[in-house]
Amino acid sequence: MSAISSGQALRMAQHALFGSDTAQIDAELLLCAALGATRAGLYAWPERPLTPAERGRFESLLERRILGEPVAYILEEREFWTLRLRVTPAVLIPRPETELLVETALTLAGPAGAEALRVADLGTGSGAIALSLASERPHWQVLATDQSVAALQVASDNAVRLGLHNVSFRQGSWCEALPEGLFDMILSNPPYIAPGDAHLGQGDLRFEPSSALISAEQGLADLRAICHAAPRHLAPGGWLLLEHGFEQGTAVRQLLDESGFSGVRTLADLNALPRVSLACLEVLGE
Ligand code: GLN
Repeated sequence: MSAISSGQALRMAQHALFGSDTAQIDAELLLCAALGATRAGLYAWPERPLTPAERGRFESLLERRILGEPVAYILEEREFWTLRLRVTPAVLIPRPETELLVETALTLAGPAGAEALRVADLGTGSGAIALSLASERPHWQVLATDQSVAALQVASDNAVRLGLHNVSFRQGSWCEALPEGLFDMILSNPPYIAPGDAHLGQGDLRFEPSSALISAEQGLADLRAICHAAPRHLAPGGWLLLEHGFEQGTAVRQLLDESGFSGVRTLADLNALPRVSLACLEVLGE
């Protein structure tokens, strides 16, 4: 059997993954993993022959992808914000949309070097939100919570790998996991998909933990629990920032209103879909 080149391997994989919107990037990432190469390396030297071991590795990674397994779980990693995070099937795969939560938190807090804030990320999963904020603002104290012990292990392992020392971890459900004391900001990307939603049977969602995806009451039960409990844990002037489904903006703004927040608003993600709602706990006496 004559050796195939990395360019041929890529074409073969894209063909095998035909029909997926991410065929090209998936093929590139799997080939990089099989060869220990970078994407730039693939393009700089498309004639590079694959050794039989490399070809075997590539074909077994590709086989898993053809069966639907998410690339992030196959490679056990995903990039989010500026970080490379380890992910396992115990955690939701971080999505680019969620970077809007990080960006909004940084904007609200003002320029680096300002106050040392106390921030909580509820249901941290891989740690994506908490670790991004901790890396951008080393003087903040970030707390990451999750009900799942397996998820907390992934998140704390990511903190160690990234050398981030300003993040701590606590197990528990939403605000019940929070210690005494008041936070300047609480963020969460909770589960918000309604049970039975057709998307749950498609793509990566089939492989992700249902506890990170599905919430009762048309996907609003966990968002409601967080909105109702958060005011007791926020300092006056503190912020709550929530990711939600693109059709849930009105419902989440209502939950924030009825929980006593002010300045309630919703922001659109990169696809111009309403994705993040935020609100402020009014300073008493104002
Ligand atoms: N954003 C994910 C999706 O719709 C869902 C994640 C979540 O429920 N927080 O694919």
